[in-house]
Amino acid sequence: MALIVQKYGGSSVADAESIKRVAKRIVDTRRAGHDVVVAVSAMGDTTDELLELASEVAPIPAPRELDMLLSSGERISMALLAMAIHSMGFEARSFTGSQAGMITDAHHGAARIVDVTPIRLREALDEGAIVIVAGFQGFNRDTRDITTLGRGGSDTTAVALAAALDADVCEIYSDVDGIFTADPRVVPKARKLEVISSEEMLELAANGAKVLYIRAVEYARRHGVLIHARSTFSSTEGTLVVDEARREELSTLFPQLQGDHMEEPVVAGVATDLSQAKITILGVPDIPGKAAEIFKIVAKSGANVDMIVQNISAATTGRTDISFTLPKSDAALALRALAAEQDDVGFESLVHDDQIGKLSVVGAGMRSNSGVSATLFDALSAAGINIEMISTSEIRISVVLRGDDLAEAARAVHTAFGLDGEVDATVYAGTGR
Ligand code: ASP
Ligand code: MG
Repeated sequence: MALIVQKYGGSSVADAESIKRVAKRIVDTRRAGHDVVVAVSAMGDTTDELLELASEVAPIPAPRELDMLLSSGERISMALLAMAIHSMGFEARSFTGSQAGMITDAHHGAARIVDVTPIRLREALDEGAIVIVAGFQGFNRDTRDITTLGRGGSDTTAVALAAALDADVCEIYSDVDGIFTADPRVVPKARKLEVISSEEMLELAANGAKVLYIRAVEYARRHGVLIHARSTFSSTEGTLVVDEARREELSTLFPQLQGDHMEEPVVAGVATDLSQAKITILGVPDIPGKAAEIFKIVAKSGANVDMIVQNISAATTGRTDISFTLPKSDAALALRALAAEQDDVGFESLVHDDQIGKLSVVGAGMRSNSGVSATLFDALSAAGINIEMISTSEIRISVVLRGDDLAEAARAVHTAFGLDGEVDATVYAGTGR
């Protein structure tokens, strides 16, 4: 008997029929003799609809009230799910985030979990009940207010519950079969991975892969939680996201973790991201302190800078250009902040480009293999695609390209690293969540 945490995303509980299907899946797990704790998202597009409604009554809704509103979405699905399980003859009890002991900081709309005290959940489990917890929400002890964890926060709820309850596995259900070597909607030959290391998953999630939320993967990595990403719409095994250090120990429970991993491909996957923009600052005086001034201004605007490139300065002018990427949604504020300080910093002009795409190849094998960048650049050159920026980490290489070239680039690179599967991947209609 194991303790299994399951998370069901909005697309898995979109209507009454789906809720009953999920209830059956939960009951089957219980019947197999396991203790089950479920974190559930709001039904379908409920969160978007509530946000829309809020914006209709107030241009900038009060953050406290917005969290009160949004957290209600998950209360609806948790109660309906518990009812559906009851009607199948099983004991189920639903809990809000605060009842479940999900303690967060006070940051409305993007709260961080600081502690989990699942006392009531343990009691319910001891009494033989299936436990259902509203995802995406918590409670702050100082303000005594309800908080939400940010979009997609139910993944984090599930992982945090798994860590606090010392669960054997945290199963994250969505409408895709698992983690793929690339987004199957972009690269039809993408293959489902049986296993991926949590450090590789973290890089993929940080660079555009949407199947798991980065904060949940971070939390899992920090607390050694084993994630199993799988589909509500099929019974096939999904992908295990595992901390390399725990691989041996877990392989008794999960045979797919056994064996020799030396033969694994150097690149685990290709991530694509169309959500970034590029700002170029032209004619920056090439003297000490200018980069510091610029990025202080950008940071103060709240923008989250990703890649940075500085050109060699032209000897004749003593000036240089600096380009950086940031989320499209942060660009307007960053541009305004920079323009306001133009005279002080002394640069010549600003260029904004929101037609870029970012492609990243990720693989722990890069540590011990040379030639990964050469293969990447070769594949892009053969496809006639121009590279605008490059950045690397220990296990990742990212390039910025024209957004229009991104899909073609991803397919070419996927092939070049030998990742193509024999058949096209199954893509279910849906959001990928
Ligand atoms: N319902 C929330 C959202 O749509 C949380 C989640 O789905 O994980 O962002
Ligand atoms: Mg949702």
